[in-house]
Order: sequence, then structure tokens, then C-alpha cells
Amino acid sequence: MKHDLLNKAYDPEEFRSMAHRLVDHLADHLDNTIHEKSNKTIPWNTPKEEHEFWSDYLKNGDAQNLFPEVLDHTIHIHHPKYMGHQVAPTLPITTLSAMMASLLNNGMAVYEMGMAPTAMERIISDFICKKIGYGSSSNGFLTSGGTLANLTALLSARKAKLPHNIWNDGHDEQLGIMVSEEAHYCVDRAARIMGLGEKGIIKIPATKNFALDTSLLETYLDRAKNEGIKVFAIVGSAPSTSTGIFDDLETIANFSLKNDLWFHVDGAHGGASIFSKTYRSMVNGIEKADSVVIDGHKMMMMPALTTALLFKDGTHSHATFSQKADYLLEQSVEEDWYNLAKRTFECTKTMMSLHWYTLLKTYGEEIFDDYVTVLYDLGHEFAEIIQKDKSFELAVEPMSNIVCFRYVNHTLDDHTLNRINEKVRQSILEDGEFYIVQTKLRGIHYLRTTLMNPFTSMRHLESLLKKIKLLSNTILAQH
Ligand SMILES: *Cc1c(COP(=O)(O)O)cnc(C)c1O
Repeated sequence: MKHDLLNKAYDPEEFRSMAHRLVDHLADHLDNTIHEKSNKTIPWNTPKEEHEFWSDYLKNGDAQNLFPEVLDHTIHIHHPKYMGHQVAPTLPITTLSAMMASLLNNGMAVYEMGMAPTAMERIISDFICKKIGYGSSSNGFLTSGGTLANLTALLSARKAKLPHNIWNDGHDEQLGIMVSEEAHYCVDRAARIMGLGEKGIIKIPATKNFALDTSLLETYLDRAKNEGIKVFAIVGSAPSTSTGIFDDLETIANFSLKNDLWFHVDGAHGGASIFSKTYRSMVNGIEKADSVVIDGHKMMMMPALTTALLFKDGTHSHATFSQKADYLLEQSVEEDWYNLAKRTFECTKTMMSLHWYTLLKTYGEEIFDDYVTVLYDLGHEFAEIIQKDKSFELAVEPMSNIVCFRYVNHTLDDHTLNRINEKVRQSILEDGEFYIVQTKLRGIHYLRTTLMNPFTSMRHLESLLKKIKLLSNTILAQH
């Protein structure tokens, strides 16, 4: 009896016909979004409405219609008017690699459980290390997201820089890391998970342009030492999430070298600048970092989650989770490259290298240059038209595809402007034509766009500004 349902659920022919139908739906979806046949980026519903809809659907909905229904209830990242969070419109071919990875479900923890993707992971990691400018002792791996990769890198840093084996023995002394106040919150979270506490997170103020203020590094390190904090690492953002501003990696690298700190670059968003001939200079100094994080699902057009964590000296990546004080006495790195779970937080992980390898093989590395360059260019062009318009003000001149700005009106104070910009963003969300987000910087409420879609053009951005002006005027009139 039980086998009837299982047989039906595993039936290859049933799968074939369902999959063909889904591919048709997804291809139509791409056509509707990329070519703007649909005029909504997000069909907004409140959480309550959405919960009611899907509760009812589970009881009364048509199973045949489930996938198309999902399309009508989700945000459409492939729409050129999507310009919100930093998630990439996936390249369609990665939907196919994802499908393959999902069906094969190789667990990746040991070599046998993912032979091809394990080899691909080494090839991809070596390739990215080379693009960073690392030498022959570098290596890396793929892991589930920038958040986990940053934590892993800081664990490697602690193992490498402190004389005793905290992994085995724990620690009594106050440890610390240095990081910009503008860094992604996951760095703060990683430090707390590691038991550093608030005191161990030495937040360096940012300059007026939101980059880590490198002129304060010596003072803050001295102060931490005087307080008895053993600082072992410093994190640079490439760029920071809210503003898209790159820290001065070169200067931080020299500072960390001089003070024997581990230098980690959080390039979750903009690490992919290494592929752009035009924008490589944004990450100058990245080659001096001890570790680098780059998200595949942000500026490299892959589905979530897939993140590369690269090490200048690969030995450290093998030592992170090792019980042994001196990993190299036990095993050589060359012997052990294919047992990936020894180096990652995950045990089972997805066959994520398949996406990277597929893109590299199918389109070559130029596609990463094209993507990054097109979108950073667009960020600069967008900033130019904002600057020319008296109704708008930039938070800071952008260095990437993240642009923060706000509606201004010189007869109104900041408090009122904050309320108007907040209302503008909420109206845009509920309207659903565009998708943008918001951020608060030093008490000022900004609208925030991340230009993730290579089909977004100046025409779309001009039309967004026009819409914001109209909405602001309506809100003002109701005031
Ligand atoms: C997105 C982001 C993260 C977090 O990465 P996830 O892949 O979302 O876990 C960390 N740091 C920066 C700078 C980011 O932009």
C-alpha cells in the first residue's frame, strides 16, 4: 500500500512532464520580467494576507497550479525595476545546475559523496585565488553564505594568530577584533558567537564618506591593548552593505602586517570586482588579505546560497576545525584537499560548485567582468542624475552599484524629511511597480537602491525619480 504513493511520487515520466511544464512557466516568467510584459516587481500582500492565502491553498488549492501560483506571490528579481536587496537575478543556466544538484543530492561531506563537484570546487577556488592575486600556497572552498564564511574566517584567524589552542581549551583572556562601524552585522554576530562579547568588538568609526577611518587604527589598537584586549584580526568591507563604500584595503593590509593581525576582507558583495578591468582598483590590497569572502549569489549571478572563502595561505583553512595544535604535523594539505567537510562548518552541503563551473565553462570569466562593470557604471550614472536634481540628495557619492539618496525640500527640516522618505518607500513597496529599500545613516532616512539587474537602464531610473517626486508631493499635500 505504502509503495503506491512512493512509486507515483518517484515516477520518471511524471517528473518529465511536470518539469517540462515548470520550465515553460519559468521561461515565460523570464520573458514577462526581463522584457517588462508584467508591470509589477512585487505583488505586495501583508504577511497576514499571505499567511491566510497559503493556509487556504493547502486545503483547497489546485496542486497542478502550485508553481505558477508561487510566481504570483513572490518578488521578481529579474524585473529591471527590481533594485532593492543585493540578491542577483540568477543566470537561467544556473537554474539548470541547481535542478541537477537537487536531484543528485550528493552530500559533499566526503569525496565519494560528490566526486565531480569536489574536483570542481578545487578548480574554482584555485581560479578565484589567482584572480585575487594570491600565490601558490593559497586555496579555499565554497560554503553556505557570507555570514557563515565570515565566521569561519574569524575562527581560522583565531587559530592562526593566538599562541594557545582555544579550539580545545577555551579561553579566559579578553580577545578582540577590529572592524568598521559600517560593517555588515554578521561580523558582530560572529564575534559574539566566538565569545568575544561587546568589549571584543572594537568598532572603528567611519569617515564622513562611510569608509573605515584608517587614521584611527593605531589609537584604537593601543587603547584596546591598554584595556588588556588581545586583538587578533581586523576586517575590511568591500564594500559595506548599507552604502556600498569600499574600505581602504591597502592601508588596512599594511596596518595589519605591521601589528601581526589577521586581515580578513568581507567582499560578500563587491569581492567580484576582481573580475572587472574597470573596477579592480576598488579592491586594491585584497591580495594582501589573509582571507577573502565572495558571495556567488550577489554579484556573480548564482542562486543562493554559495560563497567562496579563500585563504592566502591554505594551511590555515585546513587547521580551523582541527583538534591538533599543529595540523601540518599530522597531514599534508595535498593529501587532504578532497575531504571538504574538514574545512567547512557544514557537514552536508549542496553541490554548489556546479554553478560556478557551469558559468565558467559556458560563458568564460568575461561574464563576471561584464556584469560587475555594467552595474557599477549604472550606479555612477544614476548618482549623476540625482546630483543634478534639486529634489534629491545623495548620502554619499557611490563606489559601486549601491546608491543611497533621499527626497529633499529645503523648506522642511530633517525630521519631516525622514517621515516623508519613509512614507515614500512604503508607498513604493505597496504599489509594487518598483522595488527599492531604505537605510538610516547617522539619523537620516535614505532610500537605498542596489542595481542588480543588467537590464535596468537610465530610463527606469529616471522613471523611479519621477515617481518618488509625485509620491512626495502627494504626501506633502496631505501633511
Ligand atoms: C550580504 C553580505 C553579508 C552576508 O552574506 P550572506 O550571504 O547574506 O550570508 C556579509 N557581508 C556583506 C558586506 C554583505 O554584503
